[in-house]
Amino acid sequence: MDLAAAATHPGRTTPIADRTQLFIGGRWTAPHGTGVIAVEDPTTEQVIAHVPAGDTVDVDRAVAAAKAAFGPWSALAPAERAAFLDRLHAALSARAEDIAATVARELGTPLRIATKVQAGLPLTVLRSYVELAGQPESTHTVGNSLIVGEPVGVVGAITPWNYPLHQIMAKVAGALAAGCTVVLKPADLTPLVAYLLFDAIDEAGLPPGVANLVTGPGSVVGSAIAAHPDVDMVSFTGSTAVGARISHLAADRIARVALELGGKSANVILEDADLPRAVKTGVANAFLNSGQTCTAWTRMLVHRSRYEEALAVAAEAAAGQTLGDPFDRGTRLGPLASAAQRETVRGYIARGLADGARLVAGGLDAPVPDRGHFVAATVLADVDPDSTVAQEEIFGPVLVVIPFDSDDEAVAIANNSRYGLAGAVWSGDEDRALAVARRMRTGAVDVNGGAFNPLAPFGGFKQSGIGRELGRHGLDEFLETKAIQR
Ligand code: NDP
Repeated sequence: MDLAAAATHPGRTTPIADRTQLFIGGRWTAPHGTGVIAVEDPTTEQVIAHVPAGDTVDVDRAVAAAKAAFGPWSALAPAERAAFLDRLHAALSARAEDIAATVARELGTPLRIATKVQAGLPLTVLRSYVELAGQPESTHTVGNSLIVGEPVGVVGAITPWNYPLHQIMAKVAGALAAGCTVVLKPADLTPLVAYLLFDAIDEAGLPPGVANLVTGPGSVVGSAIAAHPDVDMVSFTGSTAVGARISHLAADRIARVALELGGKSANVILEDADLPRAVKTGVANAFLNSGQTCTAWTRMLVHRSRYEEALAVAAEAAAGQTLGDPFDRGTRLGPLASAAQRETVRGYIARGLADGARLVAGGLDAPVPDRGHFVAATVLADVDPDSTVAQEEIFGPVLVVIPFDSDDEAVAIANNSRYGLAGAVWSGDEDRALAVARRMRTGAVDVNGGAFNPLAPFGGFKQSGIGRELGRHGLDEFLETKAIQR
């Protein structure tokens, strides 16, 4: 790792100030308790800043502020809400460089990717909600009934660390555009970028209480939000285990939930595909953000007639995933988010090899920088579709490759998962690829490298979740349906 070159980058050398307050009721407010959370840079393993560890009193205050703000905010005309969101977009855009550098520090995403994805994508999503918020209310009639959508109320948003601002924006922008108010609890590993968002919210002058920030442990702050009687809906992204816990808490008071959970998506490469492109794109997809991506195509399914050819391309592509400091221009693969995540991922690699997988690239003994939570880009071949590494979400740079003999078998292996979030199909015959895509039990499929569409509904089948985010579908999640008979 070229730490010397990276060390001179201002994003790496500029100190990040501690944050000591929460954003509640439209102003920066001292937390109830004195606890703090230390934020670590996973590349240097040094603490870079502290944020407050909020508690249940803070949650109560934030929910009360959001409840008080709901009436006036939901009563605004669509164009007025859109104008507020537009001002937020301007304030956030001015912070784009800071956002990218902050995520490169607190998460370890290489700066080039952080600029495009960690900073650029949330701005694109917010822009889409400025447009959607400004559209006239959509109503329709059924017989003598007028059908309208009305904002659900106070939304509790609980978000993970892998795409920290994007995951926040998919919830917060959709909820605010729909006329809801929000209490956000970001992930403990990556709270700093949430502070940049709330600096922008403060600067944009959103009405007090419309958006509130409470940092703190999931087991305390997240649970309190999920269980709070005045939170009308909980929107959560993270692990399936915590999603289930949140569902139980919300079910006790019949509150709505939207869940974006794990994935183990299949990249199906048929024998008539443009194989080098399919494999290279698949490898890049699997290792994006060090594999810490819920939609990652972590199972590559290849027709047996082209299996060894695919493994050779995959090995070469994985070798090109240069590990290093996120601020070094040559880095393709940053560290994992935490020491715990690194140990979990290493455990999965050991398990895959013990279960009979063939190591094609990377592995436990591949060279990695001596500091930072790094794991080399790893490709495992000959993986049993029922084995642990083919079934469980690893959330690290580990790709498993599985051969198949027919389209039917490819579909059966792809669907042999408790998840169903994303996927891909590659074929020289687009109709054949579409037919396979339609049979995959998953919320999204990219055919022959179709680009990510931030306006398309995003969400999962099966244990990948409930509900959809992004675009019109994402806004509609935050609406109740009312029928008015005349
Ligand atoms: P979690 O599901 O534990 O965390 C996601 C969010 O939920 C965080 O804000 C967390 O807070 C909060 N949370 C944790 N426990 C509770 C609780 N009891 N009640 C309410 N909120 C809670 O994910 P992890 O960060 O621990 O990651 C573990 C695994 O989850 C990964 O290895 C990966 O497999 C999966 N994952 C999937 C993601 C996806 O996008 N689908 C994203 C992240 C993880 P805190 O940060 O304080 O713990």
